[in-house]
Amino acid sequence: MSGFYQQSTIAAMRIPTRSMTIPLSLSLGWVPNSLENAIAGTWKSFEGTMSLERMDERLEATLVVSYTLQCDCEICGSLISYTRQFEATLVYLPFSLDPRKSRHVKLPQTVKDLERISHQVTLDEDQLDVGFYDNDTLDLSMVLTEAIVLDRPSLLACNEEDVVRVDEGECVSFPTEGQKNTHKPFANLPDFE
Ligand SMILES: [Zn+2]
Repeated sequence: MSGFYQQSTIAAMRIPTRSMTIPLSLSLGWVPNSLENAIAGTWKSFEGTMSLERMDERLEATLVVSYTLQCDCEICGSLISYTRQFEATLVYLPFSLDPRKSRHVKLPQTVKDLERISHQVTLDEDQLDVGFYDNDTLDLSMVLTEAIVLDRPSLLACNEEDVVRVDEGECVSFPTEGQKNTHKPFANLPDFE
């Protein structure tokens, strides 16, 4: 495998406009740590690709991954096996365009500045998850972590899709509205005339 991909960061301007594809696997140095940061557990298998494409300073990362890991159910603590495959596209803009950091950067001085900024952060980004990169560098391990975190269920538990409970027994469940009082303690009593 090319030594180039062993690095977990890439200079933003080195990303070609016609896109480049990085093969991902557990044997790639920075990948296991990036996965562990997304979901702590034993990663049994992982493979996929990350395709990067640049339009001026706007970077697009498209991930196609499949994996299996074992971890603890976040509700009952049972050992579970989670097998998942998904495709996701994340967009990254320069740190200086992050609206949350705007107090720390030079305010636009002219209408032209303003137009440039509003043009780069456009409404069509609403459909996509937008992040920001700093020091003109995209951190690939952060991109991978973010993609998995955005895709995973908010509670990784026995009863989720793509999850198999490894331990015997059942997950703890709590009665929800509409399912209450299915237990009728007097149902077996004979009717009295
Ligand atoms: Zn559980």
